[in-house]
This record gives sequence, C-alpha cells and structure tokens, in this order.
Amino acid sequence: MTERAPISPWVAGLRLRCPQCGEGKVFAGYLRFRDTCSVCGADFKAADAGDGPAVFVILVVGAIVAPLLIIFQYGLHLPGWLALTLTMVAAIVLCLAMLPPFKALLFAFQWKHKAREATGKDIQ
Ligand SMILES: [Zn+2]
Repeated sequence: MTERAPISPWVAGLRLRCPQCGEGKVFAGYLRFRDTCSVCGADFKAADAGDGPAVFVILVVGAIVAPLLIIFQYGLHLPGWLALTLTMVAAIVLCLAMLPPFKALLFAFQWKHKAREATGKDIQ
C-alpha cells in the first residue's frame, strides 16, 4: 500500500472534494454532505460546518456588494430602484455560488484538525 501525501484542505475544500483522498465529491446535493466518500469510504456522517460558512459568505459578499451599491447609485447615477435591484441580484448570486466551496473548505479544515463538537467530556 502506498502512502499518500496529505491533501491540502484548501485544495480539497475549494474543489468540493473529500478531505481525506481529495478525489470523491463531498456533497450529494447543493449543500448536503454525502454519508461517505465514494472513492475512499471516509465517513462524512459527523460532518457539520454549522453556521460558519454562512458567516464567512455574508462577510465577503457584504464587502463586495456594499461598495457596488454605492458605485451604482453615486458613480453611475442609476435610479435607486435599479441600483438596489442589481445589488440584490449580485448578492444572491454571489451567496449561492460561494456557499458550497466555503462549506466544503470549513469541513476540510475540521477534518484536518479533527475538530468535533465540544462536549466537556474531553476536559479532565
Ligand atoms: Zn475520499
């Protein structure tokens, strides 16, 4: 059996791939984790990135669309309703596009660092 080089969580996460083998897909649907990796059989049942991906996506998208709204309204002098509509569409599209890679990325980092829910049973 050959020893594999460790998979970078950045590479695995941003490619939506298994953090253990880097090949199998991690999602069965848009944001639903598979039960196991189809290539290496890694168990994803405990995968739970929680609200983390949404928080990061909100921060990044907010930093993009807020200046965009100002540019539309005051730089390009678009009517308020049009500037707001374009900004909202951009925000929705960016959020939907960024959620899967951010969720897979956080899961890959949790996998690498063996993060799990704090229960207090570990502390002695
Ligand atoms: Zn795998």
